[in-house]
Amino acid sequence: MLRTHTCGELRLDHVNQEVTLAGWVQRVRNKGGLIWVDLRDRYGVTQLIFEEGSTDKALLEKAADLGREFVVSASGTVIERTAKNDKMPTGSIEIKVSQLEVLNAAKIPPFIIEDETDGGDELRMKYRYLDLRRNVVREKLQLRHRMMQETRKFMDGQNFIEVETPVLIKSTPEGARDFVVPSRTNPGEFYALPQSPQTFKQLLMVSGFDRYFQIVKCFRDEDLRADRQPEFTQIDCEMAFVNQEDILNTFEGLVKHLFSSVKGIDLGYVEHMTFADAMKYYGNDKPDLRFDMKFVELNEVAKGKGFGIFDNAELVVGICAKGAAEYTRKQIDELTEWVKRPQIGAKGLVYARYTADGNLKSSVDKFYEVEDLQAWADAFGAEPGDLMLVLSGDAKAVRKQLSELRLRMGEDLGLRDRTKFKPLWVVDFPLLEWDEETKRYHAMHHPFTSPKREDIPLLETDPGAVRANAYDLVINGVEVGGGSIRIHDRATQQLMFTHLGFSDEEAQKQFGFLMEAFEYGAPPHGGIAFGFDRLCAIFGGSDSIRDYIAFPKNNSGRDVMIDSPSTIADEQLKELSIRVSLEQK
Ligand code: ASP
Repeated sequence: MLRTHTCGELRLDHVNQEVTLAGWVQRVRNKGGLIWVDLRDRYGVTQLIFEEGSTDKALLEKAADLGREFVVSASGTVIERTAKNDKMPTGSIEIKVSQLEVLNAAKIPPFIIEDETDGGDELRMKYRYLDLRRNVVREKLQLRHRMMQETRKFMDGQNFIEVETPVLIKSTPEGARDFVVPSRTNPGEFYALPQSPQTFKQLLMVSGFDRYFQIVKCFRDEDLRADRQPEFTQIDCEMAFVNQEDILNTFEGLVKHLFSSVKGIDLGYVEHMTFADAMKYYGNDKPDLRFDMKFVELNEVAKGKGFGIFDNAELVVGICAKGAAEYTRKQIDELTEWVKRPQIGAKGLVYARYTADGNLKSSVDKFYEVEDLQAWADAFGAEPGDLMLVLSGDAKAVRKQLSELRLRMGEDLGLRDRTKFKPLWVVDFPLLEWDEETKRYHAMHHPFTSPKREDIPLLETDPGAVRANAYDLVINGVEVGGGSIRIHDRATQQLMFTHLGFSDEEAQKQFGFLMEAFEYGAPPHGGIAFGFDRLCAIFGGSDSIRDYIAFPKNNSGRDVMIDSPSTIADEQLKELSIRVSLEQK
């Protein structure tokens, strides 16, 4: 080895030892006859010292010539520092260097490689390999590594077998567009990259594997956001001979194991909530339960008092922000403007303050007497000091708007603490979702999800009301996992495809292999997949999954470091029998 120790290792106990360290020059401080160099590797930073008198001249000059990010090896004696730095684990010692070798010089890096950097996003992405030298970035990948190891440990301990499934496949419908890969040996034909290994893991159940998992890359061509990347990682799982409760228990176990082993946190009780309740009380299928602020419906108490906007609305619904009665007029106006932005689309915002001295004042005092407002306050369970915020309109739209407002108020009032974790199982999702654009039903989860047996007759009469054996795990308002109990017989699967508007031929062409497998002894089965990058981001207390991916893509799906996607050589196109002619969009 080119080193005897790492740069994070030496302490007072090592004083007087002869050591060799290797790493990157983080900083050089040259005080004339005295030079300090901070040497960094992935384990830490150790200070090197070169001193006129006790260090020979040539060595002193060599040290003075070191530039940032030079790769060097330094040998010398560990000595006790006179001025100790208790912020650094190695801050009590330094190395009095007797030999210095420059292993590789470095150009001046385009940004400062320290916790606080001057590099913008795009620049750091272009030089991601330099960004990854920074502690704050490296630590995120270390967290990811730990979570991966703990996942494997837990799953192996529960008898799950990790099986790799192919990457060149054909379309798996998870609701996004496919990335496709042309086949050279089958001109004019394409593979699709898996949106998930869904059909393969089901086939593994037919094969008798019983308990499968895989930490696997999935690919979805959709618009990007902070919590989306075109390629991302799932902890993908499937089990046979289980019901929904078994799956929830097993994977609650996984998540609890990760929290306790990686963060030392006991996650505690995981609440269950139906999709219908989540929508009714939080306007959202992934409610953030770190704070309460449940929706309260006010039709009974707010309609019929001559306020046309409420009278004509399908739903009048509000939230009570505890302790926010002090909000100034200006703050409330600002909130009103905020909910009226097109992204949220509310028509307006009605408020009622329950002042600390017990008075009720609202923005609609013209229509409501104090007794009326008291009825609102009672419905909310409001107390003096609270602020009631009310929206109205079409039920579905208004719930969505209020959900945004609730999250905003939670943020404003400091209720979304990143160090707190509130998990929730959302269950009983609808099987189908009506799509206005295509005027047909889509599978809300995916087409392999089974309907609740008692709801099957509704498929004919009221398809939108059919509930599925489908569930999501939500933590702090983020969907971290989702799955379902699957259909495992041909007839039901075929029926499902029919309801999704597939002709028999189309269904056969795309998923005949799966339906056929169901005819050869398919056990009842179900599963779940966790968005691994999101889970890492939550553990790390961050909104962006990008930080937890070694080489992520930017918002337009580009890797600016390797400059991809890019055109390919004519020769390659020819081999693929492809001619490119781009259409104007
Ligand atoms: N394949 C599903 C997904 O990617 C998960 C599952 O149903 O197990 O969301």
